[in-house]
Amino acid sequence: MKQQMQRVSIAVQGPFNGALTYLHESVLAPGIRCEVSLGPRTVIGISVNEPPDEQLDLAKLKPIKRVLDDKPILSEDILTISVWMSRYYLHEFSSPFFLALPKLLRTGKSAELKKTRWVSLTTQGQHIDTTQLARSVKQQAVMVVMQKQRKATQSHLNGLGFNTALVAALEKKQLLTTSEEVNLEPIKPTGELFEAALQLTGEQLQALEHINMDQYSPCLLEGVTGSGKTEVYLQAIEKCLKEGKRALVLVPEIGLTPQTLSRFQKRFQDDTVALHSGMTDNARHQAWVKASLGQAAIIIGTRSSILTPIPNLGLIVVDEEHDGSYKQQDTLRYHARDIALKRAHALNIPIILGSATPSLESLHNASIGRFAHLLLEQRANGSSLPPIETIDMRKQKHQAGFSERLALRVQMHLDEGNQVILFLNRRGYAPNWFCKTCGWIADCTFCDAHMTHHRAQRTNICHHCGHREAPPRQCPNCHETTLEAMGTGTERAEETIAQLFPGTPIIRFDRDIASTRIKMEQQLKLTEQDGPAIIIGTQMLAKGHHFERVTLVGIWDIDGGLFSADLRARERMGQLLTQVAGRSGRGERRGEVLVQTWYPDNPVFEPLLKHDYRSFAVSLLEDRKRSQLPPFGFLAVIRCDSAFANLAENRLQEMAHYLLDTKKVRVLGPLPALLSRRAGKHRYMLLVQCQKRSHLHEVLTPLHRHYPRDAKQVSWHIDIDPSDLA
Ligand code: ADP
Ligand code: ZN
Ligand code: ZN
Repeated sequence: MKQQMQRVSIAVQGPFNGALTYLHESVLAPGIRCEVSLGPRTVIGISVNEPPDEQLDLAKLKPIKRVLDDKPILSEDILTISVWMSRYYLHEFSSPFFLALPKLLRTGKSAELKKTRWVSLTTQGQHIDTTQLARSVKQQAVMVVMQKQRKATQSHLNGLGFNTALVAALEKKQLLTTSEEVNLEPIKPTGELFEAALQLTGEQLQALEHINMDQYSPCLLEGVTGSGKTEVYLQAIEKCLKEGKRALVLVPEIGLTPQTLSRFQKRFQDDTVALHSGMTDNARHQAWVKASLGQAAIIIGTRSSILTPIPNLGLIVVDEEHDGSYKQQDTLRYHARDIALKRAHALNIPIILGSATPSLESLHNASIGRFAHLLLEQRANGSSLPPIETIDMRKQKHQAGFSERLALRVQMHLDEGNQVILFLNRRGYAPNWFCKTCGWIADCTFCDAHMTHHRAQRTNICHHCGHREAPPRQCPNCHETTLEAMGTGTERAEETIAQLFPGTPIIRFDRDIASTRIKMEQQLKLTEQDGPAIIIGTQMLAKGHHFERVTLVGIWDIDGGLFSADLRARERMGQLLTQVAGRSGRGERRGEVLVQTWYPDNPVFEPLLKHDYRSFAVSLLEDRKRSQLPPFGFLAVIRCDSAFANLAENRLQEMAHYLLDTKKVRVLGPLPALLSRRAGKHRYMLLVQCQKRSHLHEVLTPLHRHYPRDAKQVSWHIDIDPSDLA
């Protein structure tokens, strides 16, 4: 029997640099899950398109225990890109394949769809004059939709605001019927619209026409905040759907609100599905399967949805392409934008990267002609960009860092019935708990970092490891009881503002308040109420929200970004400032922006105050060029952690010697990481720089194969194209 068995390659989770070879009675198509034994355990594996090991003795190979799918569940393009990712990011071979699957499929659940609730039009419903239903606006609206669509899923109708009760009422009137079906058939996208597309501005039209829908056509859509980038995406998607192809839209981690989703659902009759980390495992599984069967025309998702199989994909959009959440910061440290480019290239389809503040990498790619550079320099609704001014904090009286001058202006805007945004990028009450007598500051026991004081919970919390401690009443250093909070976070800002503007509604956005999508949505709803209000928040506010009635944006604190040693700190500061400023004056009323700073003369601010993000970016690119940092060179960081500082440092020293011997790369370090101790581990890093991408991989691949990742006492990893050095 054994002679007839075939060798097959299976990706199995574990520290393996390639696929493992098993036996099966027939050749297995790539992309099929199976159960295999690994040592004493039975684990899930995925068949892959790699040559099996022909050297291994047949007698030693184990048979596949059970095949879980009758058809591949990962498409060819995903399988190819996964192999590429594991080589490029120098990670365990199997990681990308498993990353591509939702959790339930990773753990062996079947890939079947649950029954879907379908709503269809009856003959009576087809012929009814919907104005007869005018007594119920909603019933009439549903019927208008259904007379166009004839059949729709209940979840699609939910997305349009038509719930089951409403459908049931119309079922009673025999205008609609419902059924529960399992549908495995793909739908064909039509590009039919519910709501007419907007008349494009000249700039938008030019941008749209530039996108070649028939081939790989990478475009950087650089449009000021409020310039109508989304409208360009929508109309490009419409073209794509009209050709019967599907579209994938990536959004930042916290950018996918129900508002964003409904913008797509309101426009297109074709089904849209969302994929993000806030969904239950089950919901995500269902959405993924629908997408992979071709039952949705538009797939909107966060980072990992770039690896969703989508038949006949015709367009990829990466919204807010500069956003940090596209880079995964643990295990497989991939960048979803870069994978999106790779995928679009492999499929020979267009890709739009959109942002008001593009990453330096993308600007560089546009300037050397690798990307088409599409510009939207005017706001779409004719409103103008708000003037930005600085407030010199050295000359101001202030309360918890909130200046008198800003307070006056806030009052002015509130008096006119407008809303105000106050931005500070620090959650919690205060960044420090300190002693006024001797200057002692509460530090985390496990990290090289100060504790953040959270007053509402009466605790100090470390934002790096989550460690919590009661704030001491007596100073451990001088034994005085003169301890208090120093500095300002959003919690304290809210307290200060409530004192200064009693009676004005305050709406806070930070990870403590808007910790889930639902809570986020509740906060957003509050901003839609009439009358003056103050919105206080962290960078959550910067993510593309459209606050119609905000006329003043006050930036409480941005100085942190000026002096950080991190690779991208300045770039991020400029992006944040520009994005947050862009929330002002988006409606009919004119807006303004005030920036509090202790360093008003810092030249970094100059172009930003004129809304000239481009000049700001160009000067940062010049710095990068001088130091041969990306995008003018290639960079990897090797980070090493250990409970014993010398072990981590020595391990990196050893690697540094080897790397220097190759004479192909520049090596800096070992250096202590910017956060030199976290959760009790000492952290060191090694920077590896070179001029040729292939050299980087040539020298790092053997390292990756030679050293075990998690040896006793020392663990290490390689981060290719790191987004920060923390
Ligand atoms: P961005 O994504 O560039 O910040 P949005 O797409 O959110 O901008 O558009 C900002 C506002 O301008 C929205 O209210 C949108 O409806 C409106 N808008 C976009 N394009 C047009 C257009 N061509 N004509 C009129 N209004 C438009
Ligand atoms: Zn003290
Ligand atoms: Zn800590």
